[in-house]
Parts: sequence; C-alpha cells; structure tokens
Amino acid sequence: MQSSVAIDSSLSCAVGKLSSAGQSIWLDTMAAISLVAPALAQASTISAGAPIIIQFVIYDLPGRDCAALASNGELPATDAGIATYKSDYIDPIVSNFTLKASNIRLVLIIEPDSLPNILTNSNLATCATAAPYYREGIEYALSQFANIPNVYMYLDIAHGGWLGWPSNLVGIVPIMQSVITAAVALNPAVSAAVRGFATNVANYSPTHANGVAPVIGGTLSPGTYDGVTYEEYEGNPAIDETTYVQLLTITFNGTNLPTNFVIDTSRNGRAGIRDAWGDWCNVNGSGIGYFPQVSPDSTTPNLDAYTWIKPAGDSDGTSNTTAPRYDAHCGLADSLQNAPQAGQWFHAEFDMLVKNANPAIVGC
Ligand code: BGC
Repeated sequence: MQSSVAIDSSLSCAVGKLSSAGQSIWLDTMAAISLVAPALAQASTISAGAPIIIQFVIYDLPGRDCAALASNGELPATDAGIATYKSDYIDPIVSNFTLKASNIRLVLIIEPDSLPNILTNSNLATCATAAPYYREGIEYALSQFANIPNVYMYLDIAHGGWLGWPSNLVGIVPIMQSVITAAVALNPAVSAAVRGFATNVANYSPTHANGVAPVIGGTLSPGTYDGVTYEEYEGNPAIDETTYVQLLTITFNGTNLPTNFVIDTSRNGRAGIRDAWGDWCNVNGSGIGYFPQVSPDSTTPNLDAYTWIKPAGDSDGTSNTTAPRYDAHCGLADSLQNAPQAGQWFHAEFDMLVKNANPAIVGC
C-alpha cells in the first residue's frame, strides 16, 4: 500500500493502459445525469459512426443501500421518494438516452444490491421498508429504458459469496421473475431489452479460484481454494464468480429468466485477501482483475463479458468513524484506512489496485 499521492512512472504507464479500457459511468445522484449527454457525444466522436458500447450504472433507488450505511442515497423510501425517482431521475435519463446517436449501444447495470437485499436482508427494517420501492422503481426503470433502441440491461445479482448458497440461488428466482414480469406487463419490450444479470458489482470475489475445477451440482470437497479454506466457504459451492454464473445458469434453466451474464472484474484480481467473505469495503491487498473482454470464456458461453463496473480508485466508503455514512465494515482490519466517502477518489487504493493487478498490466 502506498500512502503517497505522487504518481511514479510505472503508475502513470498503468494509468495509460487502464484508460484505454472501458469504464462505467455511475448515475448515482440526480445531479450525475448531467454526465450522460457529454458521454454520449464523446462516444459518437470516438467511434466515428461505428458501433460503440457505453455502460452506465443506474443507482439511485429510494432507501438505497438498505443493509449498509456507506452508500445510503439521496431519496427516502417513501411514496414521495419513488415519485421523485421516476420523474426526476429515470425520466430525465431516458430523455437524454433518446437523443443518442444510432451507433451507440447502451449497457445498463441496474441498481446494485437492491433485489439481493430483498432476499436476504428483509429482516432489517430499512430493507423491509425499501423493498416495495425497490421493486416499483426497477420495474419502472426497465419499462422506460426498454423503449430506447439498442439497450442491453443487466440486473445486479450480487456475487457468489452472497447468493451462491443453494437456498439463495433458488430464493432469488421468484424475486427476479416477479420484477421482470411486472416490467413486461408495463412494456412488452422489456423481454428483449433485459439481457441478463451482472455479478460481483463493486465486490472482490475472484473470477477463478485458481487451479480448482468449478464444483457444479455437487458439494465442495474439503480443501483450500485459493487461500480460502473449505470451512470459510461454509458450504457455499460458488467459490468464484465463474462458478457462480454456472450455478445461476443451471438454476435459471427452465424458468423464464434470461441466462446471460457479465462479471465486474475491476478489482477481483487477488483471491484469499479477506478475513471474511462478506467484507466489502476498500479491501486491503486487492488488485485489478481481467481487462474488459467480450465472450471471455469458452467454457461458459453465456458469459457475455468481463467488464469494469466499479471504477478502480473510487472508495467503497469512508473509514472516518465520525463521518456521515460511516459503516463499520470500512473500519475492519482488512479495509484500507484513511478512506474517503463512497465514490470519491482514493489514491492509495488506486495505487494498490494497480500494483496488485492480476493479470499484471502488460507493458508497465
Ligand atoms: C457509491 C457511488 C459511486 C459508486 C462508484 C458506490 O459505492 O455509493 O456514489 O458512484 O460507488 O464509485
């Protein structure tokens, strides 16, 4: 870990390589909608009429981040909050998207953590209160975005360490089905526009637990998997994100759910770095993972892409115990300290992610 903010030459080389790869734009506030028009214009210029993808993250639900504190949002989980979400967040985004050039393909990552929180955290009052607004907000968002040409939506489906347990794999099915079915009832175009699901958004779960064959349809044998022991996996067979995608594929087979996936590989290059699988805040020892790539794995043909969703260098949450939105996860022993608020630039973390990149950043 570096504490200096000086940019050494290897880092500036890496920055050059990283900036040549696609990043995502997070629309995490109503104010951030102003980022959309310039990004669309720039993409048109860069591509000079050829097809080009831009990826946005839709992230402003009422009562956002209901099971944690670090990314609590600007809209309350109330009837007024959902009305504002529709009229002052989704509708203006749609207006901006409508003006895009025809060569632009929009990939939209829909509302990280929200539907997984409905499954596993409804015991919390914040999540129980937010759940109906999460459903209504996502149903509305899907129905509105589906009218835009060339839009490909991926609903967030957490990561293997969260929903990989057999009961959660099965449990998420009716939640996804009911939200998509309700959205299709609002607008039949949703069926084609929802391409699938995004895993590992802003998380650190590895793409491959190195050297270990995925465990599909069976139980995990005792052993150590890329630094994490069998006991720590607690019987969850989704030991890495590739396995998680394969398990979801099997589980969704025969349902009406889509089975295409993307994995966020922006910070998952290093495995076995966490004290607990559930640790998620500015994890010390983490590194950038695979560069963005389409159809990256011939053994998992429904994996559409490795993609960078959480921007490397953006904090997961403040480590200042007296700051608003301080979450105790950001004070754990395996979290980098001196961290700014979620979404703000955290130079020491960026430096660490670059130095720990795996695969290494070629040519630096
Ligand atoms: C934050 C957002 C931010 C995003 C990307 C989230 O954890 O809550 O404000 O845009 O990360 O860095």
